[in-house]
Amino acid sequence: MFDQLARSFLLTEIVKGFSLTLKYMFFMPRVTINYPHEKGPISPRFRGEHALRRYPNGEERCIACKLCEAICPALAITIEAEPREDGSRRTTRYDIDMTKCIYCGLCQEACPVDAIVEGPNFEFATETREELYYNKDKLLANGDRWEAQIASNLAVDAPYR
Ligand code: SF4
Ligand code: SF4
Repeated sequence: MFDQLARSFLLTEIVKGFSLTLKYMFFMPRVTINYPHEKGPISPRFRGEHALRRYPNGEERCIACKLCEAICPALAITIEAEPREDGSRRTTRYDIDMTKCIYCGLCQEACPVDAIVEGPNFEFATETREELYYNKDKLLANGDRWEAQIASNLAVDAPYR
């Protein structure tokens, strides 16, 4: 009882609270960042926006095996394919419905040639659903845009795959 009265009159709890505030204001490292001008680190295994990769000579990596389409639990991937004149097999259509995708990463795991990957980009919010229906051109453009970072992330993760 006496303790409680003393604490009330001496305002010790308010003083303690203010000292904690001042300590965090002036002496502790900041825990917030000024997004979007500053961005926090992301793991090389981060599963962001999808991309279709090319080989350094510009040829598409995807060989239209459809393993990614078969494994996708959300049925988000649609592939059509035809053989080329030289006999190689490539997709004529590669769509991902990003509104269905659950970012599980199974398409990337299944791909034998590291063609479809989930890249490091997490800033692809749109104003309409239609913009989230990605076609092959969009996916290849993503691959061209992010290739350097995707390749470096895959290299870092390679010993664990
Ligand atoms: S991340 Fe998962 S849900 Fe999304 S397209 Fe790939 S397999 Fe399908
Ligand atoms: S992205 Fe990979 S798994 Fe999917 S069809 Fe192309 S080669 Fe096969």
